[in-house]
Amino acid sequence: MVVGDFATEVDVLVVGAGPGGYVAAIRAAQLGRSVVLVDKADLGGVCLNRGCIPSKALISASRRYEQMRHSAEMGLTATDVAVDFGKTQSWKRDVVGKLTGGVGALLKGHGVQVVKGEAYFVGEDTVSVSTEESGQRYKFNHCILATGSSPVELKAFPFGGRILSSTEALELSHIPQSLIVIGGGYIGVELGQTFARFGTKVTILEGADGILPGFAPELTRPVAKKLQQYGAEIVTGAKATAAKETGDGVAVTFEAAGQTREVSAEYVLVTVGRRPNTRDLGLESIGVAIDDRGYVEVDRQCRTSVGRIFAIGDIVKGPALAHTFVRRESGGGGDRGACVRSRLQMHPRRGVLRSRNRQRRPERGRSESARL
Ligand SMILES: Cc1cc2nc3c(=O)[nH]c(=O)nc-3n(C[C@H](O)[C@H](O)[C@H](O)COP(=O)(O)OP(=O)(O)OC[C@H]3O[C@@H](n4cnc5c(N)ncnc54)[C@H](O)[C@@H]3O)c2cc1C
Repeated sequence: MVVGDFATEVDVLVVGAGPGGYVAAIRAAQLGRSVVLVDKADLGGVCLNRGCIPSKALISASRRYEQMRHSAEMGLTATDVAVDFGKTQSWKRDVVGKLTGGVGALLKGHGVQVVKGEAYFVGEDTVSVSTEESGQRYKFNHCILATGSSPVELKAFPFGGRILSSTEALELSHIPQSLIVIGGGYIGVELGQTFARFGTKVTILEGADGILPGFAPELTRPVAKKLQQYGAEIVTGAKATAAKETGDGVAVTFEAAGQTREVSAEYVLVTVGRRPNTRDLGLESIGVAIDDRGYVEVDRQCRTSVGRIFAIGDIVKGPALAHTFVRRESGGGGDRGACVRSRLQMHPRRGVLRSRNRQRRPERGRSESARL
């Protein structure tokens, strides 16, 4: 790799083309700034390529399948209802392709220069971007960091083979016979419910005393009931401790209610959280403050400890949800996480509004939820 000697000067450099970065890049361009947007992968980030959009596409297909099979009480019957999952996946890829193509067109229309490569800070105002063949430096007046997050990997359950993160689960080429989901947060429950609707025998192992920790029990109980109607087993207060691959599946050992048990399935999906992508960016070397969990520390304007660098999206503490910060990046104002609307795409549909504004709500960490 050869890094160019001379740095290209730019008003605003945005690192990460997810829903945080691409919206911010467009807004900066609308405000008349010269903007370079760098991403090492595809436009749209996790949300469009490996998160919100592909998951909602599969959820929507599984709902349609369920409705086709179970509408007899409305006098509607369908025969020979079948799933061609390869086709479902290729339809999902088309949906993703249309949206990422749209993002590309919007960026181009606003004059944002898109660079495919990996960014690394070599100074407070300079980033080196490397691709496989070459490299280039960019000197910026302001930088917006939006490098997102990655699935948390458990030591006893390293990703690979039959142990999947949400990324691989969304790319499965067939509907698994059985699936163990470790972690009953919204990603695990949405994906678990999707496969259960397609006919997979799903087991959810959740460490807390109920699925969807953090949501009010009156909201989560009906979701648990529906999962059970789809044949899923939910084990709460469960700690998964080990995995052993067998010829055609994987056996998971877990502890629950003082007992050690084992359950087997074709695949294991680990959805125990996400961690911010702040390693390997060189942030510490230029003095950007990062907390002990890897989140970039920012003030109310999203400014980091280095005045010209801002950080947004999943790399900042707060709910890791695309829509909670897009409004802010696009100039809508507001405090990320001050009032967060979440709509869970599961059956029955759940929606919550949470208030986390400590001034208005002094009880630390308390959230209010209500059925919408
Ligand atoms: C299965 C799943 C379902 C989800 N469903 C929803 C939902 O329904 N609603 C919702 O609001 N949210 C949902 N989310 C969360 C949502 O995807 C994230 O909150 C959102 O994508 C975060 O956006 P971001 O811009 O911070 O970063 P990301 O979307 O993670 O994008 C970051 C980008 O930065 C790039 N990058 C990282 N490091 C570098 C580097 N050094 N150099 C160059 N580029 C770099 C990456 O390649 C990536 O493209 C879901 C997530 C998952 C996994």
